[in-house]
Amino acid sequence: MDQEQQPQAYPHVLLFPLPAQGHVNSMLKLAELFALAGLEVTFLNSDHNHERLVRHTDVGFRFAKYPRFKFETIPDGLREDHPRLGVSFMELFESMELRTKPILREMLVKINPPVDCIIGDGALGLVLDVADELGIPIFQFRTISASGIWAYFAIPDMIEAGELPIRGNEDMDRLITRVPGMETFLRCRDLPSFCRDSDMTDSNLQLIAKETRKNLSAPGLILNTFEDLEGAILSHMRSKCPKIYTVGPLHLHLNTRLAETNGTMVHQSPNSLWEVDRSCLSWLDEQPKESVVYVSFGSIAVLSREQIMEFWFGLVNSRKRFLWVFRPDFMPEKGSIPAELVEGTKQRGYMVGWAPQEEVLAHCAIGGFLTHSGWNSTLESLVAGVPMICWPYFADQQLNSRFVSEVWKLGLDMKDVCDRRVVEKMVNDLIVDKREEFVKSSAEIAKLAKACVNVGGSSYCNLDRLIEDIRSMNRNCSK
Ligand code: UDP
Repeated sequence: MDQEQQPQAYPHVLLFPLPAQGHVNSMLKLAELFALAGLEVTFLNSDHNHERLVRHTDVGFRFAKYPRFKFETIPDGLREDHPRLGVSFMELFESMELRTKPILREMLVKINPPVDCIIGDGALGLVLDVADELGIPIFQFRTISASGIWAYFAIPDMIEAGELPIRGNEDMDRLITRVPGMETFLRCRDLPSFCRDSDMTDSNLQLIAKETRKNLSAPGLILNTFEDLEGAILSHMRSKCPKIYTVGPLHLHLNTRLAETNGTMVHQSPNSLWEVDRSCLSWLDEQPKESVVYVSFGSIAVLSREQIMEFWFGLVNSRKRFLWVFRPDFMPEKGSIPAELVEGTKQRGYMVGWAPQEEVLAHCAIGGFLTHSGWNSTLESLVAGVPMICWPYFADQQLNSRFVSEVWKLGLDMKDVCDRRVVEKMVNDLIVDKREEFVKSSAEIAKLAKACVNVGGSSYCNLDRLIEDIRSMNRNCSK
């Protein structure tokens, strides 16, 4: 028997995230959970992101302890100096379809040992296409909330019912009725940002709607959420896709399983594509309990100078302490900063280019999170029991912020407003005036999140079931 025909002792799983911070982060956590369970794992990263991941983290060291884990890389098809940010982020999809897809196909044909199962990023339809073409079993993993997927899924129904497009002089508070389970609270303004386009043939909208339909017709869908958080929406989704594995919150799940193995709970170093500035933790150590607002707009958002000034004045005028992640590429328009902002920041603020976010949110000095409502950030805040002010930037974030404020009652939604007086008022509401009610609901949900990743919890059991299902796919298995 030659080498290619040797039976494998362990199923070989390949994971391929969309090349973006939130996707790489959560999918790498899932990959580590698989490695912990003894599977053979290949993690496929874009060349561009892998170089950054290796430069800014200890992934090489961290994964060296798993002898059956390896990284592979693939081009994303964009020029090296492409920003991969803000509005130009969506250009990734076309370039990957054109340039990455054929390389992936070739890679999967040649890979040794052969792949038994692919975990494809459900936002990246090309992985499903190639897997189907080569006859490799595939599970889809969506890194957003179940509710976000469900709203994307309903896009064709909303168009058919005339609820989309949103017209120019539309009442943005009009209720949307065609997303089952959300009829009583979902307004036009809460729909994913792509739905705001007046052109229903817009390529981004069509792409998202098409890929999401494919996700729910997949043999299995893995989600970074948990039953106690999104059970109502999940039950609607299961009518279309019976095999849904809710295994989140993945960061907490991984920490819990690692603690089972190592005997202690430690924060894993973040899978960051930027250099982490840990000095903010020392600064936080000096601040009073629950006094600081943590401010971050994630890895993709780019704001205008005008918008940033509104947030900055709002924060300084609130006279509350703040820790702000100000990525080097966050504000492309440079210019001088008003003296009162420099002074106010010196007195009560601290800025870093990139923070160890999970650790920051778990720090006792943090009292609230002004966030863009990315799904990872939302989950991380929720697990830490930190109430939020939501200022969604794009995609599913508009919907997440509605759930945070209206359904889970974990904070305030500031979407579509960027005004220093509102920022000031909401910061004070979050840290002082309405603190009690938000802290109470945040603590309750954090408790549910912890229970679901402990032995016997829903996410814990679902991960075991998923791993068993993957093992049963091992085409040449001898174990
Ligand atoms: N993050 C981080 N440090 C920062 C800002 C963000 O580690 O200073 C991480 C954050 O913990 C989260 C991810 O980057 O896991 C951002 O993902 P999210 O889905 O919230 O937003 P996106 O970046 O995709 O818009």
